[in-house]
Amino acid sequence: MDNLRRLGDLARAIAYRQALIRHEFWPRARLEELQQRQLDKLLHWAIQRSPFYGELYSAHGMSRPYSLQDFPILDKKTYMECFDRIVTDPRLRLSELQEHMAHISRDEYYLGEYRVLTTAGSSGQKTVVVFNRKEWSIQEAASMRIAAMMGVMPFSLRRPVLVTIGSPSPLHDSYRLPLSMDIGLYRYCVLPATAPVEELVQRLNELQPQIIRGFPSMLGLLVTEQLQGRLHIKPGIIAGGGEPLSQELRKQLETVWQGSVFDIYGTQEGLRAMDCSTGQGMHIFEDLGIVEVVDEDNRPVPDGTLGHKILFTSLFGFTQPIIRYEISDMMVLAPEPCPCGQPFRRILAINGRNDDVLYLLDRAGKQVAVHPVHFWNALEGFADIRQYQVVHEPEGICLRLMLEGGNGDVARNVTTEVSQKLRALGVDRPSIRVELVTKLEDRSSHMGKWKNIVSNVTRSSV
Ligand SMILES: [Zn+2]
Repeated sequence: MDNLRRLGDLARAIAYRQALIRHEFWPRARLEELQQRQLDKLLHWAIQRSPFYGELYSAHGMSRPYSLQDFPILDKKTYMECFDRIVTDPRLRLSELQEHMAHISRDEYYLGEYRVLTTAGSSGQKTVVVFNRKEWSIQEAASMRIAAMMGVMPFSLRRPVLVTIGSPSPLHDSYRLPLSMDIGLYRYCVLPATAPVEELVQRLNELQPQIIRGFPSMLGLLVTEQLQGRLHIKPGIIAGGGEPLSQELRKQLETVWQGSVFDIYGTQEGLRAMDCSTGQGMHIFEDLGIVEVVDEDNRPVPDGTLGHKILFTSLFGFTQPIIRYEISDMMVLAPEPCPCGQPFRRILAINGRNDDVLYLLDRAGKQVAVHPVHFWNALEGFADIRQYQVVHEPEGICLRLMLEGGNGDVARNVTTEVSQKLRALGVDRPSIRVELVTKLEDRSSHMGKWKNIVSNVTRSSV
């Protein structure tokens, strides 16, 4: 039954993909008309069907045509606290979704209709996102668009080997999307970014991927493995995402692997942007969403200048309206249209999550590279952790935790969990200290330099 549904979703996605292709050739004015039409539909739907937006409407007496700017800014905290009132299907309850998420192992539907994802987001605050089948098909179409922009031909006879090194959790879209679309067009494989580097190297040597995707810091670790002679792969397409991709790393990946490198930006809520083939920034998929770049006081900043955060409105999320949703990434948008002719605006620069790779020692005193994903993975599984920071100090690792309720058991369990993860990677007797804090500094006050995982130890012997 689920397989049949999955095929139906994919067939719909292929049709949507055709529509998305057409938008790439539209003049800007036509794209803006489409945005306005979709936005009006979304805002009206939200007012009619979401108790949260309905109350707001009654209180402020808004009427058509609605203006996006009349809608409140939605921060992650409000979004989660008001979850049950924001969603437009009263059957969706956060507590029940959390129960579903605790037991999910593959691409399972919720109520035969929904797919549920979770994310810690760049500020460490956990959120839950729900898509109905139609919305999921749009997500699939967007990922087909990304694949096509990278030159991946899904109907090739040779079935390219596509390897993602990422979160091995179906609650994350980087894993869930390919899983939901896996009908044998690619030879698709996910290697958990949480695996030790040696294991990743061995698997990659066996798989010989034509396409490789992962966090830039992970790709950086792997390209070093190749330079040091342990890894022997030659991917033609290399895609980074989830963290900023620096120019230095991009050059290194291109030189060492001799492939085309692409930077992909995306959030679980459905915002996507992708490198333009002219190398002049990333195109935002504006046919699927609206991005406002604003300053600290939520005033729009002119294109060409760095904003303090962005507000994202999804034009296709009707189950869980995402309207002026605050994302703490700092962006500069290009003031001019792109020379490639696409109508989408471009991101020229972005400061997203930029966590450090930690270098700890194994029993023989050799350094073990611990990718931030190990910590994200260990810490984001705890429902009671509201925000966290991992600091590597000369004496050991300090986990600074801001808890929902605040009890000592969480601290103990977290220490055990992190310690086990590190031991599994070969780290010798990891020293871990927990510091319970009532407040972590506001990431946005750090001009994009805020990190969830920080190393204060110099990597002297490498
Ligand atoms: Zn372009």
